[in-house]
Amino acid sequence: MHTMSYADRLQSALTEPDRHLLRGAASIAARLNRPLYLVGGPVRDCLLGRPIVDFDLTVEGDAIDLARSIARELGGTLKTHERFGTARLALPGRSRTIDLAMTRTETYARPAALPDVLAGAIQDDMARRDFTINAMAIRLDGDYFGELIDPYHGEADLQHGMIRVLHARSFIDDPTRLFRAARFEQRFGFAVEAATLNLIPPALPVLDQVSGDRLRHEFELIFREDRPERALTRLHDWRVLRQIDHELIVDDQIRAKFQSRPAPFEPFACWVWLLGHCSPVALMHVTQRLNLLRDDAIDLEQVMALRDQQTLIGNAPSASALYHQLDYFGDRALQAATAAIDDERARANIDRYLRELREVKLSIDGTRLKALGLPEGPEVGRILTKLRDAVLDGTVSGPQQEEEYAQTLIAQVN
Ligand code: ATP
Repeated sequence: MHTMSYADRLQSALTEPDRHLLRGAASIAARLNRPLYLVGGPVRDCLLGRPIVDFDLTVEGDAIDLARSIARELGGTLKTHERFGTARLALPGRSRTIDLAMTRTETYARPAALPDVLAGAIQDDMARRDFTINAMAIRLDGDYFGELIDPYHGEADLQHGMIRVLHARSFIDDPTRLFRAARFEQRFGFAVEAATLNLIPPALPVLDQVSGDRLRHEFELIFREDRPERALTRLHDWRVLRQIDHELIVDDQIRAKFQSRPAPFEPFACWVWLLGHCSPVALMHVTQRLNLLRDDAIDLEQVMALRDQQTLIGNAPSASALYHQLDYFGDRALQAATAAIDDERARANIDRYLRELREVKLSIDGTRLKALGLPEGPEVGRILTKLRDAVLDGTVSGPQQEEEYAQTLIAQVN
């Protein structure tokens, strides 16, 4: 049990400049008679004794209006979204921004649809949230500073390490909450509470109605966690991954790939580890379903092609043969492939290509070949390739031998 008041706990979770800032915003709200709250993630983090990293504020009534008043008095620039009634305030000389929204209530026209939003009171605003631990607010304005609004007993769930939805339709209304449940559970070392776990299977089919962009975003949020494989494993256990594609799984091998690398991870590397075992058909399905970025999809395909050719690559008979095998592939795909393929010789060969072979430079170029009597045309490229092969394989070395070999090759053409 904590003996400190919420006001004190909030104060101690803030740095001095942030304290000053919140105080400033709160006193403007108080003067205008506008109840102002810190809501969601930052309240949860504050009660967990973690530093507050983002400032989500909500106010009853018009948020843009209040944000303008705050910007006027504290300085800073405003970005407003009239359609959502939200504002983001950037303060001079600070990397921190403040998000300000109106308290609102939501209804879902159909499962997995984006919600219809209406103005509401703070309790309604809490009711639309995902989990009890994220459905708390701390009031900031005036004498109310430090009052905790906790209609769903989120504080108790924080103490017991529980992830609990607010109502039985929660996952059906918004199946992306399945991803969020896994993410928070694993980030905090919590457990999804039993009744909430029972709500997962009936929501799985609704996942099919969630857009690719929203699903991809949830994966990418997981990739940013310290140990993404843990949340991904939960999604596997809950059959969420399977619902997206039968081949999308997390097993010991995939976990080991994540574990063998130090965080933070590149999102692309995470896709490679997660999808590295997929068949070409499944890969195509997943990249389409999750609407992966075009560049990511292309590079992933290349990684898979490298994986499928690994024996060939591992057995390359010469440096020049290896060069020709790998020449077509992009940098990022080659680098990622060294983490995705098992054949050690293939990995070593890709590494050798990246570090050594593709750095090999000829002392002769097209202009020099022309000066040696070769007419312009396709032969120029062919001869340069032959020269480079010879240099790679060590049959020719040094500018003089290159020149002699070039002359021999040109003589064969003429
Ligand atoms: P993080 O530490 O990962 O940023 P957060 O709780 O701040 O966690 P956000 O995604 O920034 O997460 O969301 C802010 C708040 O909005 C959440 O705390 C939660 O109350 C609410 N929220 C976000 N996504 C949903 C959702 N899909 N359904 C219901 N409420 C949500």
